[in-house]
Amino acid sequence: MSWDRFETDELSICACGLGRVIKHSWQKEDDWNRGYNGVSGYEIECPNCKRAFHVDSITRQYESRPWKRDGISIEEYLVPNGLKLPKVMIHKNIQVNTADAEIVSKYSADTVKCVINDMNANKYSTRVQLRETKEIIKICSKRLHTQSLNRIVPFLQKVLIEYDTYEWNPLTVAEFEKKQQIQINENEEEISRVISKSFRLVFS
Ligand SMILES: [Zn+2]
Repeated sequence: MSWDRFETDELSICACGLGRVIKHSWQKEDDWNRGYNGVSGYEIECPNCKRAFHVDSITRQYESRPWKRDGISIEEYLVPNGLKLPKVMIHKNIQVNTADAEIVSKYSADTVKCVINDMNANKYSTRVQLRETKEIIKICSKRLHTQSLNRIVPFLQKVLIEYDTYEWNPLTVAEFEKKQQIQINENEEEISRVISKSFRLVFS
């Protein structure tokens, strides 16, 4: 396998404006023309800035931004020594891997009772009335491969009996989301605080 590796240097003005910062990057391509790239290091050429700052970067991942090919943005800064840019915290979803765990995470016990009543009253999955009943039938179809109320109703009755043993229900999920949001906000505030004392590098 042959690899073509190229190295390039890019320059940015430094914080005091009297010198520059060098960014050493590499690019390579494999036999199938797939490209890879990375940064091998930064060099602060300015003696003043070298004493006071170090280079730090912040990486943000975007879900779908067609104009940014890999969905990643990297901002580089001269950060005062003693400060550090925190890593961006990404929102995490709770993990539920089974139909029953997913149902309990999304619906209260009272809602599950109403859904069972809806199913018993209307007999067929095509005739049920409540939006929640239709959603639960979809979950069962996807995860249990059945839409038969004859199978789903006993399944839901068992879920109801064991409801309190599940880790995630709408209340614990809401609590988790609230705590997570507070942590993300605090982290973003710290990122803003460090950035406000730092100098943004723009390489070209
Ligand atoms: Zn400088």
